[in-house]
Amino acid sequence: MSNSVHHQARKRFGQNFLHDPAIIQRIVDNINPQRQDRIIEIGPGKGALTELILERVESLDVVEIDRDLVESLTNSIGKDKSLKIHETDALKLDLSKFAQSDLRIVGNLPYNISTPLLFHLLNYRTCIKDMLFMLQKEVVDRICANPGCKQYGRLSIMLQIYCDVESLFIIKPGAFNPSPKVDSAIVKITPLAKPRYELSDHESLKVIVREAFTQRRKTIRNSLKKYISESDIKEFGIAPEIRAEKLEISDFVRLANCYHQLKINSL
Ligand code: SAM
Repeated sequence: MSNSVHHQARKRFGQNFLHDPAIIQRIVDNINPQRQDRIIEIGPGKGALTELILERVESLDVVEIDRDLVESLTNSIGKDKSLKIHETDALKLDLSKFAQSDLRIVGNLPYNISTPLLFHLLNYRTCIKDMLFMLQKEVVDRICANPGCKQYGRLSIMLQIYCDVESLFIIKPGAFNPSPKVDSAIVKITPLAKPRYELSDHESLKVIVREAFTQRRKTIRNSLKKYISESDIKEFGIAPEIRAEKLEISDFVRLANCYHQLKINSL
């Protein structure tokens, strides 16, 4: 197996390689690749997941930033014509170049870039059928959190408004080499055909959610005062003294729609 390739793990690329065959099999079974699927794997590393996915599909694209790993992959499973290796930064990936719809994105993601990468991929949600990622468990908890939990925040809201999210299972540090210090988890993210609530402007939602959670202990009257007045907040049936962590996603959408309308009115 290509996992035996000698490579000094690079911390800056978040390299923790999977070596437990049962875990690798379980992840690939959950991806459940079908022959015609258009799958892109982010961060194939030494190919632990790649090899098994490749057995089940007609073609597979992988995106790897580390030149040395690209070279060893090219020399091992890269000879398989159905594998296309892209040596690039996943954060700069233009997914619309791959397909206009039904892309499946998978990977044991480099933890140091997981949040920006999720936001980057969200920009391409209309091209994506589903995503299955391994992330730090703490990040998966934030993605799936409901109002009132301490993990609930920007990541929960921005993903759940556009996607169904599901935490599948936990993976212990011993499944990796080198072992990370924390537990990991698998999350499935499935973009919805349209946002869960009627949203007039994505940028306004981004601003409102960011500002509301910058100081999460503040009341929204204070954290949003530059954007929406207390009386406007009240008009939407939202208590101005509430904290962001207690608001439902639908409340954030109403606040964002209000802020967007105020911006239009002021033009
Ligand atoms: N898939 C392999 C496995 O499960 O053993 C490796 C997973 S390792 C956690 C993350 C992989 O992502 C590494 O191969 C790393 O070099 C790669 N990577 C890190 N940053 C990246 C980036 N910005 N774009 C593409 N790949 C990246």
